[in-house]
Amino acid sequence: METYDVIVIGAGSIGAPSAYFLAQRGLKVLCLEQLPSSGQGQNKAAIGGVRATHSDPAKIKICQKSLEIFSGWKELTGTDIGWKKGGYCFPVYEDREEKILKGLLPIQKKYNLNIDWIDDSRIKEVIPGINPEKLRGGTLSPEDGQVSPLKAINSFVHEAQKKGTKFLFQSKVTALKTDSQGCIVSVETQKEKYSAGIVLNAAGADASEICKMVGLDIPVFPDCHEAGISAPIAPFLDPLVVDLRPGAEGKTSNFYFGQNSEGQIIFCYTPNPPILGTNRHSTSEFMPIIARRLVDLIPRFKNLTIRRVWRGLYPMTPDGVAIVGKAPGLSNLYLGIGMCGQGFMMGPGVGANLASLINQGKSLMEDEVFTLLSPSRNFYAKKEVLK
Ligand SMILES: Cc1cc2nc3c(=O)[nH]c(=O)nc-3n(C[C@H](O)[C@H](O)[C@H](O)COP(=O)(O)OP(=O)(O)OC[C@H]3O[C@@H](n4cnc5c(N)ncnc54)[C@H](O)[C@@H]3O)c2cc1C
Repeated sequence: METYDVIVIGAGSIGAPSAYFLAQRGLKVLCLEQLPSSGQGQNKAAIGGVRATHSDPAKIKICQKSLEIFSGWKELTGTDIGWKKGGYCFPVYEDREEKILKGLLPIQKKYNLNIDWIDDSRIKEVIPGINPEKLRGGTLSPEDGQVSPLKAINSFVHEAQKKGTKFLFQSKVTALKTDSQGCIVSVETQKEKYSAGIVLNAAGADASEICKMVGLDIPVFPDCHEAGISAPIAPFLDPLVVDLRPGAEGKTSNFYFGQNSEGQIIFCYTPNPPILGTNRHSTSEFMPIIARRLVDLIPRFKNLTIRRVWRGLYPMTPDGVAIVGKAPGLSNLYLGIGMCGQGFMMGPGVGANLASLINQGKSLMEDEVFTLLSPSRNFYAKKEVLK
């Protein structure tokens, strides 16, 4: 059996940066991916929004780390991953959304986020052409941004390979074998068996299946989200925009969009009620619903040409917070799972923190904040407001 310091299961939003940061610490890493190349799970479904504006302190800190890594990546490696520092803007039309967003500002400021409430005239500057009727203002966090998910993940894989990490594709993990002490002694694919001091589950929407292989019941359940992208237009929109209002059509709880570094408008909505399961087929209702929402908010979008649509999965948890840390009851299993709708933005921050935890026994943040992500927490105690 080939032996490694760490075996990472999954070469997606979490697995690829984790492999990179583990290798950077000098560890011998193997990354096993069931699909033919990296980022082909849910990573490529993401629209690439990266924000530290959350309500959960651990998510704030993880994403602050991610922002530092994404924004410095080109300088560090020479590779352009489409980083665009345009910020995130949440425009507000109703009392409910104003209360939610203003209520989050104290915790966001406590964790040093550059975020403020801005008035309607400033919103009109930041989102040119926005529907001004009943616009109250909103929040703006200018340090947030966007990245190309596929460019980023491929670059993490490439840099991890340069540091000695081995990636094996079309290598689906089918079994984990433990000894009587609760230590994983072999990781098995259809073709081979491997062993490692540490195993990291970064299997995204399939993470619960991996946990079940060692008798762990960890609640990660996929739900389905659609997205689309337009032909490029002249750059006019800096921030990613999130409209928290439920849609008048009664089928969406919020929607969000941005203009990427190529000039394309990229957009999604959150279905209401959530559509649980793993169906990745596009629906006929997505475009009519999102087109109405886009044009209602920014009437000039009526001229957009849509290039393509797709559907992917959010690996959800009951409280909307990721599950990161050492698995309960096993001596050498770590989890970087349950990323919900923010796994791409969390990826580098989770990877850097997990590498530190695995290598040094401590994450990069205060223990009391990191434990908010604990695999042993009560998953039903609270809910993340901006999940
Ligand atoms: C429409 C849409 C828009 C989104 N927009 C954003 C966004 O703007 N910003 C953001 O941060 N997030 C966004 N997300 C969420 C984001 O895509 C996910 O949270 C993230 O990709 C999850 O990362 P992951 O590493 O857990 O899973 P993945 O990226 O799916 O990686 C898991 C990998 O594990 C592999 N795997 C699974 N089982 C096995 C096995 N048994 N053996 C070997 N390999 C295995 C899979 O094939 C996969 O490649 C969006 C999602 C969707 C659907």
